[in-house]
Formats: sequence, structure tokens, C-alpha cells
Amino acid sequence: MNNVFVYCELEGTTVADVSLELLTKGRKLANQLNCQLEAIVAGKGLDGVEKQVLPYGVDKLHIFDAPGLFPYTSLPHSSILINLFKEEKPQICLMGATVIGRDLGPRVSSALTSGLTADCTSLEIGNHEDKKAGITYENLLYQIRPAFGGNIVATIINPEHRPQMATVREGVMKKEILDTHYKGKVEKHDVAKYVQETDYVVKVIDRHVEKAKHNLKGAPIVVAGGYGVGSKENFDLLFDLAKELHAEVGASRAAVDAGFCDHDRQIGQTGLTVRPKLYIACGISGQIQHIAGMQDAGIIISINNDENAPINTIADYVINGTVEEVLPKMIKYYKQNTK
Ligand SMILES: Cc1cc2nc3c(=O)[nH]c(=O)nc-3n(C[C@H](O)[C@H](O)[C@H](O)COP(=O)(O)OP(=O)(O)OC[C@H]3O[C@@H](n4cnc5c(N)ncnc54)[C@H](O)[C@@H]3O)c2cc1C
Repeated sequence: MNNVFVYCELEGTTVADVSLELLTKGRKLANQLNCQLEAIVAGKGLDGVEKQVLPYGVDKLHIFDAPGLFPYTSLPHSSILINLFKEEKPQICLMGATVIGRDLGPRVSSALTSGLTADCTSLEIGNHEDKKAGITYENLLYQIRPAFGGNIVATIINPEHRPQMATVREGVMKKEILDTHYKGKVEKHDVAKYVQETDYVVKVIDRHVEKAKHNLKGAPIVVAGGYGVGSKENFDLLFDLAKELHAEVGASRAAVDAGFCDHDRQIGQTGLTVRPKLYIACGISGQIQHIAGMQDAGIIISINNDENAPINTIADYVINGTVEEVLPKMIKYYKQNTK
């Protein structure tokens, strides 16, 4: 009762990275709240799925295994969460800010009148004093995210309603195994008790999943370009440097909007979050929405023709110059020095 729950997304029988990241965060929140961490998986053919989940410090895994539960459709998964939460009364529920999480989260929170904060960038535990009502609420979930176009960072709370629900994008939290032999309980539920036959009204006839064209999220080096790169052709310089460094190419939203680079390479608040060892920002000014997706990089190099560009304040090294003059030199000297 009143535990922290994480809904684990599945691709086939593999738990999504974003869910493992949230289990890691959920474990920390549960420790602070002195309660248990519980996880939910719903899919088909889930024998052994606990091996993927329990090592993240999960005290109890709820398994819903039935042919109609994969691929994901809205109604059966919503019914599972709504009915399980009516029994278990969690204080917190976390899920990925993915296509599935964005569909499932609002349905569940609306049915339970609980409230939901989407796309949180940080989750913390803290108190809140309602001075007007003279009430102090203890151990609330601070659901922290940029608001008003990123101009402020808002801390959102649900003092009265439970569960406190939040979605988080992939890559925002770090995933970390707690103990490979962590002893958690596994409960296999009778799916028919939670899902009605009519919930299976939508049948997925054909499903096409496109493979990611790059590995930006896991790349140790990212060469990212902004509007200052100037053109799609100039972006080729970034690809050339990336090839030499065995890096991946990322982009700011302005560069994506200008058509210099594909959307799936966008880094930032509404794109990917990356944590490479080295981030080379080329012609990127460093607005807060971009920084949100790369500020945890180990070393940041900024190449910019404006020495006062905001990104320079968080960069470890600043190269003052244009992308067109600096990148060809970097490629040339890197090649020379690694011969
Ligand atoms: C709700 C919301 C969400 C957003 N989400 C994102 C997001 O996920 N990711 C994101 O990136 N942005 C996001 N943005 C947009 C963000 O506010 C900025 O507009 C964007 O990051 C700016 O991109 P930029 O730095 O490439 O362009 P600019 O701000 O135009 O900066 C270009 C930089 O290039 C430099 N420059 C110009 N010419 C050269 C040259 N030849 N060589 C070297 N340097 C040069 C300039 O000095 C400047 O510093 C979001 C905005 C909103 C409102």
C-alpha cells in the first residue's frame, strides 16, 4: 500500500530503457519515502521478465501476461493500471514520456482524478506549506519541468490526490542496476479480473517498427550543429568530423527546423537527452531548451563566432571562430595526429 509504482513498457518481451531509468529513480524515491518500489509489466509470453526488472531494486513485480496485451493498445493497459491502483493505492506512479506513456498516463490519471505532470526533467521529495489553509503537506513528489516555453522551471505538486503521476523522457534519468540478485516478489495476476473482453475491441493487424538510424543516446562523443552551421551542406562537415571521431551527429531545434538535419537527431527539451563524454557544439547559441538535453556531458567544446554566446558559459573549451574555418582544420589535424 502507498508504494512507488513504475509502469514498465515492453517491446516484445524486452523492458524499455526509459522504464529501467525510472526504476532507478523510483528506487531512490522509495528509499526517501521509506516505502517499497513496485513495477508493472503487461504483455504476452513474459516468463522470466523479472530477471530484467528486479535487479533495479524492485520489491514487487506485478505481471499481467495475456495474448491481447502485446502490442500495446489503450484500453486493456488502462484497465489494468486503473483497477490495480484502486486496490494498491500507490502514492506515486511513474512512466515513460513515450508514445505509450503519453496515451496511458492521461487515461489513468483522469479515471483516478489524480493529476499528471508530463515530461518532468527532475523528480524530488519535499514538503509544501499551504499558508492560506495552514496545512503542511509532507513528502510530496516535486514534479519539476520547464514551463512557459522554458522560461521558468516549475515545481508541480499534487497535495491531495493520489497517485502523484509523472512522465519522464528517455535519457533524462540514469539507469543503474542496484543488485543483480535483488530479492523481490513476483505476482502473476489473473488478467481477466482486471480487463474486460470489450477492452480488446482494437486489434493490431499489422505493426511496422522502424529501427533507429543512429545511436545518439549511447554515443561517447556527439558533434552537434546549430543554426550557425548555416546549411545542410555545411552539416556534412559535422558528419565528416563525426566519422573521424567515431561520434554521432546531433542538432539544435533551430537547425532541424531550418532543414539542416533530420528531426530524430534533435537534442534538448523536446528532443533527445544525451550524456556523452565529449560534446562538440558547433554554431549553437545555448538556449535553455537545448542545454536541458546535453548539460550532463563530460566535456563541452563550443565552436562559435560569438565569444559571448551563452553556451560558452557552460563550455570547458571555447573555440572562437566560424564552423566553416574551424571544422576542416579539426578534421585535418585529427587525421594527421592519428596516422
Ligand atoms: C517549448 C520549446 C521547446 C524547445 N525545444 C528545443 C530543443 O529540444 N532543442 C533545441 O535545441 N531547441 C529547442 N527550442 C528552441 C530554443 O529556444 C532555441 O531557439 C534553439 O535552441 C536555438 O538553436 P541554435 O542555438 O542552433 O540557434 P541560434 O540561437 O540562432 O544560435 C546560432 C548560434 O550560431 C552562432 N553562429 C552563427 N554563424 C556561425 C558560424 N558561421 N560559425 C559558428 N557559429 C556561428 C551564433 O553566434 C549563435 O550563437 C525550444 C523552444 C521552445 C519554445
